[in-house]
Amino acid sequence: MSELDIGILALQGDVAENLMSTMEAMNELGIDGSVSQVKTPDQISAVDGLIIPGGESTMMGQLSITNGAMNSLKEKIESGIPVLGICAGMILLSKNSKDRVLGATKQPLLDVLDVEIERNSFGRQKDSFEAEVSLDAMDIPSFQGVFIRAPAVLRTGSGVETLGKFNEKIIAVKQGNILATSFHPELTRDVSLHKQFVKMVKDSKS
Ligand code: GLN
Repeated sequence: MSELDIGILALQGDVAENLMSTMEAMNELGIDGSVSQVKTPDQISAVDGLIIPGGESTMMGQLSITNGAMNSLKEKIESGIPVLGICAGMILLSKNSKDRVLGATKQPLLDVLDVEIERNSFGRQKDSFEAEVSLDAMDIPSFQGVFIRAPAVLRTGSGVETLGKFNEKIIAVKQGNILATSFHPELTRDVSLHKQFVKMVKDSKS
C-alpha cells in the first residue's frame, strides 16, 4: 500500500476541521491518501501520520487512558511517525505542563516532546485572539494564527527547534518527527502548515 494514511485523534476537540484541512492539503499537493478519525489502539497503530487536535488537554488525556489509547499513542510516536500536535495536542505531547494561574496540575501527558508548557499562557477564553506569525524554518513566512486559550513553550530541551515566537513566547516547535503549535492552523483557510505536515508524512514513508 503506497497511499498515505493520516489519522486525526478523535477523542475530543477540533477533529472535523483537521480532517478537512488535511484532505485539502493532500489535494493541493496532488498526493494520494486518506484521512481518518482514529480512537482505538488498532486504528492508531495503522496510520502513517497523526494529528492530535486542539480541544481540552486534560479531557483528552483522561479519555486516552480510559480507552487504552495512551500507550499506543506513545509507542506509535516513539516509532517515528510524524505527529502534529495543536494547542491541547501540543500540551498532551509535552513532558511537563503547568497552568499560568493554577500552577502544576496533575494531568496525563504523553511525555514525548521535550518541552515545558505553560497552559493558558495568553489568558483565558476571553483573551483569545488572532495574530500573524512567521514560521520561516517551515517555509511559511506568514500565517494567520488563531490562539484560543493557547499554551506557550517555556523551556525547550536540546533536540527541540523553535519554529516561531509571538510576543517573545515560543508558539511553534519541532523535535524530529514531532511538530507542535500553540495556535490552530485548521481554523483558517490557509492549509500551508497542513501541507508541510503531509510532506513530512510522505517523506517518512518513502
Ligand atoms: N487551554 C486548553 C488546554 O489546556 C487548550 C486550548 C485549545 O486547545 N484551544 O487543553
